[in-house]
Amino acid sequence: MKVLVTGGAGYIGSITAEVLLAEGHEVIVFDNLSQGHRAAVPDDAVWVQGDLSEPSAIRRAMMAHRPEAVMHFAAKSLVGDSIVRPFAYLRDNVVEGLNLIEACVDSGVQRFILSSTANLFGAPGNAVIDEKAPIAPGSPYGESKWTLERALDWVSQTHDMRYAILRYFNAAGASAQRGEHHVPETHLIPLVLQVAAGQRDCMTVFGDDYDTPDGTCIRDYIHVLDLAAAHLLALGAIETDNCTYHLGNGGGFSVRQVIETARTVTGRRIPEAIGQRRPGDPPRLVANSDKIRRELGWQPQFGELEQIVSSAWQWHQAFPKGYEG
Ligand code: UDP
Repeated sequence: MKVLVTGGAGYIGSITAEVLLAEGHEVIVFDNLSQGHRAAVPDDAVWVQGDLSEPSAIRRAMMAHRPEAVMHFAAKSLVGDSIVRPFAYLRDNVVEGLNLIEACVDSGVQRFILSSTANLFGAPGNAVIDEKAPIAPGSPYGESKWTLERALDWVSQTHDMRYAILRYFNAAGASAQRGEHHVPETHLIPLVLQVAAGQRDCMTVFGDDYDTPDGTCIRDYIHVLDLAAAHLLALGAIETDNCTYHLGNGGGFSVRQVIETARTVTGRRIPEAIGQRRPGDPPRLVANSDKIRRELGWQPQFGELEQIVSSAWQWHQAFPKGYEG
């Protein structure tokens, strides 16, 4: 199939593009490089530098390349940043997503896969979160994704379009060639590995007074290649119906456990200090992914935290400066 991948120069988008190509699909990457890296775009993908805030740019790409499906990864995606800059999320993420959905309708693209988030559930307590959990976005970021989920549902009722909504928990890990490189980096695993590599002095733990067993926040880390595999399954599933799935391993790990695993994997010293809580951080987010396992046969291949951290470390060692090397 011909798939247009927005945000295909970013972390999850570029690795999904790599997997799509390996499975014989054609890929058109559409990215404005505001956060992504040109070097992350697979050589075999068609490259279009364009901005989702410009409807004419999306339309031109659609007309030139005639995709049959769209995977929409491009977005601002930092919970804490969204609390500081709500309009960049409530306006830009939403308007850019709507521009893309409308361009799909206008050019006859009938399959749409949206990257969504665990941040739809606020601070849900100790339960693992399934697709029936009550929605209560935890930040302007979560709100922007929920708005796009609702928009897609309306558009699928009014037009010939089917969608898959994939709500990721904490994407992590790397393929052999591609990994996580944000500027500035704010995510736990790449930061811990930068400390292990001597590129930073110390890891700051954002709060150790949460109501969790070791006082630090718990997240459900999921390997980016397992996320990519779910996108390919979803592409098949939306031939017949809309679907919404949660993607995680179903086991949570605390910030302390992640740092400890990184010490084991790297064999390096990783000094840590306790800092303030980060605004918007819920204490615990763990997915129930039974639905996609049952309905599409999705099975994570890299479910162990050690496998996830190891793959990120291998990539970090191969590309110590990420895509700027
Ligand atoms: N975290 C931390 N120190 C850091 C970066 C992150 O303690 O320098 C914590 C953060 O508060 C959260 C967890 O690590 O509890 C995962 O954060 P990340 O930003 O990787 O992903 P998020 O859960 O925000 O999507």
